[in-house]
Amino acid sequence: MSDFDVIVVGAGYGGVTTAALLAREGRRVLLIDKNDRAGGKAMTIRRRGYGYEMWPVLSLPADDSRFHELVATLGIEGEAPLIVPEGDAVDLRYLAADGTWRGYVGPSKQADDPLAVENLEATFGVGPEDVEAMVEMTAAVLTLGDDDVDALDDTGMLAWLRGYGLADPVIAYLASMLNLVFVAPVDRIPASEGVRTMRQLFLGGGGRYHAGGYGRVAEACADHLVGHGGTFLTRTRVERILVEDGRAAGVDTAAGTFRAPVVVSNAGIQPTVLKLAGEEHFPAEYAQRVAGLEPGWGMVGVRYFLDAPVFRTGMTMVFSDQSWWDTERYEAAHRGEWPDVPLVFVAVPNLYDPSLAPEGHQVALVGILGDADPRAVAFNEEAIARAEAALADVFPDLPARVERREAYSAHHVSNLTRDAAVPGAGGECIGLAQVIGQCGRSKPEAATPLPGLYLTGTDAGGYGCGTHQAVDSGFTVAAAVLAELDARQPT
Ligand SMILES: Cc1cc2nc3c(=O)[nH]c(=O)nc-3n(C[C@H](O)[C@H](O)[C@H](O)COP(=O)(O)OP(=O)(O)OC[C@H]3O[C@@H](n4cnc5c(N)ncnc54)[C@H](O)[C@@H]3O)c2cc1C
Repeated sequence: MSDFDVIVVGAGYGGVTTAALLAREGRRVLLIDKNDRAGGKAMTIRRRGYGYEMWPVLSLPADDSRFHELVATLGIEGEAPLIVPEGDAVDLRYLAADGTWRGYVGPSKQADDPLAVENLEATFGVGPEDVEAMVEMTAAVLTLGDDDVDALDDTGMLAWLRGYGLADPVIAYLASMLNLVFVAPVDRIPASEGVRTMRQLFLGGGGRYHAGGYGRVAEACADHLVGHGGTFLTRTRVERILVEDGRAAGVDTAAGTFRAPVVVSNAGIQPTVLKLAGEEHFPAEYAQRVAGLEPGWGMVGVRYFLDAPVFRTGMTMVFSDQSWWDTERYEAAHRGEWPDVPLVFVAVPNLYDPSLAPEGHQVALVGILGDADPRAVAFNEEAIARAEAALADVFPDLPARVERREAYSAHHVSNLTRDAAVPGAGGECIGLAQVIGQCGRSKPEAATPLPGLYLTGTDAGGYGCGTHQAVDSGFTVAAAVLAELDARQPT
């Protein structure tokens, strides 16, 4: 007799989605995380009067998302209300080629902006033909059929965008946005993934947050699990996934050994296969492929606690024509050739939910593209210093308003979430890099070749932007596990 029907390793958004959906179906579920609460990379902490994530986390799409489906399916809408931004949601600051800063404040869904075309022309200094090209590209994003989109698995997103003859400032805007969504080189993001995700953005907008903090939905999922007879073990690291008679059989932890016929891992494909289970349990070809998978880039930055408001909207993006990175620009930065302005993203949680900061204060979470290698300390520090200088240029009041400043880097991301199973990995922002050869039809399957072992989260089974991808995967994996359990004899 097994202790549980399913053990889920990791309470990131992939893990909690799978675990809560299975518990709701009456399965005996054990959810284990090494942290003290659910949320993984998107967890919310509450400290010194503030509630915030460790870095900027907002969701795309804002509306009509898998998160909406998740809270509706579990009936937890009231415990973790989703906040879809309305009105002025985003502040774009663009350094034009003539050296002047141009600004645009507007809704996160361009369709909600009656002056979209005029604003586009004014912000980016483009003419009617450029607007026409953008309209044509937008129409393609919205209307391409599934097969046509699938056929773009091997086409880079940058080449796809350039195919529409877009002006440089428009490319700068779109490529910067894609960099922030995928945290990967724009030339290697598959156009299939890019087009699908841009469609979600155009239709649903971006920048959803959750009342009580972005991680609130994960906490509510964990509560739901416990309310349905499941067990949530926190501060417990899984040391090993047990393999017996050629299938996953449970986990070893410092708190003991737990057994189940199905183990779902949210710890990342490389840590799961290469460390927790052990590559000897997989076909050599699979283990080799996993070892060779490429992690995404890192995102690094600072948390500012401000004694007065500085930012006007929940989202701010600062960029120039040089800010976005493809493979070549990323390598150039590693050679010391930095852009004039780094791509900077700022999220302000208490502009969504005022209870997340003392009255009159702001908590601003700043993110910049970086290196995922926990050892790339100097490179990431330089990226942070450059971003802070750019922000002080754009928001001259900012430095004087900072009461407390906390920097974070790839090693912090790795410590909080996933282990470095291969050199250079661990601190990736999203997870497995969303690049050609690892997405769409080439994405690793959620079911591994080891019977009884599944992967949930960003590395398998979903598509789209970070947390949304994790929840998407969580749904897929819950359905697959239910089917497997239903097909098995009772244990
Ligand atoms: C700086 C930064 C900014 C980001 N901004 C955004 C954003 O704006 N929008 C967005 O959608 N996404 C954003 N993301 C990405 C997003 O947070 C992640 O892609 C997503 O949360 C990953 O979810 P997951 O379920 O795959 O795994 P994770 O969140 O990585 O969760 C994995 C969990 O497994 C646990 N675990 C791992 N190994 C073990 C073990 N051996 N034993 C026990 N527990 C274990 C970890 O503690 C963790 O809780 C950002 C990430 C970072 C780092």
